[in-house]
Amino acid sequence: LGAEAAAFSLNAVAECDSTNTQLMRQAEAGAPSATVIVADRQSAGRGRRERVWLSSPLHSLTFSLLWRFAAGSSAPEALSLAVGLGLQRALAAAGATAAVKWPNDILCRGRKLAGVLIEVQPGDIKSAIIGIGINLRLPPDMPAAIADNAIALDEVLPQSPTRERLLAVLLSELAATLHRYQSEGFAGLRDEWQARHVFQGSNVRIMGGGEDIEGICSGVTDRGELLIKTEKGTQRVITGDVSLRPT
Ligand code: ATP
Repeated sequence: LGAEAAAFSLNAVAECDSTNTQLMRQAEAGAPSATVIVADRQSAGRGRRERVWLSSPLHSLTFSLLWRFAAGSSAPEALSLAVGLGLQRALAAAGATAAVKWPNDILCRGRKLAGVLIEVQPGDIKSAIIGIGINLRLPPDMPAAIADNAIALDEVLPQSPTRERLLAVLLSELAATLHRYQSEGFAGLRDEWQARHVFQGSNVRIMGGGEDIEGICSGVTDRGELLIKTEKGTQRVITGDVSLRPT
């Protein structure tokens, strides 16, 4: 992958259930920070809340990165936002204009190009498994309900980068973003994240956390909470089992 990725310990596998699941096992066995698993084919990719992440062999880039935070640095509370920004920057460097969507998606032309799934090693909140799936080409058998809201790089770029090249660019950008997050917390990335947020200043609805919250998306806090300006004042929404939609 070249010098940019030299700091990573890279494991490429032809097939696995989920790169996050595999890497979690390696993390429990003591794998060092910056261990990466990339799979040509992922048979049981996951999203949040045990949702599925679909991919077709070799036509998506699915990988997971283990990041162990140094003692005293930021805990992973806003990590999915920081990672999203790293992906957005790397995609921009590859020529694809993308936006982040709170808390864990990357959109292009309003459709989902990539997803992030952060999982924390049980009993060790300072170690995070960062799972990433990017569509290079949509699976031909993707159900229409998902495909209608999905997009792949082959639709966005005249020539898609190879998976190897894309992985190298992503890892180098992610490492830079994670080091910044580690030293400054999300506060150091917040303004840029907000400027890239697809719903910044728009009317939105938060669903799934009890009563829906409706209002104008006015930004995020240094902890990664979403700020919604409602009739009753500004409400903070924490990342959890909630979905963000335009109204
Ligand atoms: P919400 O949009 O409600 O916030 P989510 O973004 O949290 O949901 P995730 O768990 O991040 O959802 O991703 C899983 C969802 O993404 C699936 O339920 C499916 O709708 C969609 N999806 C699955 N595979 C792909 C793919 N390859 N490309 C785009 N979208 C996909």
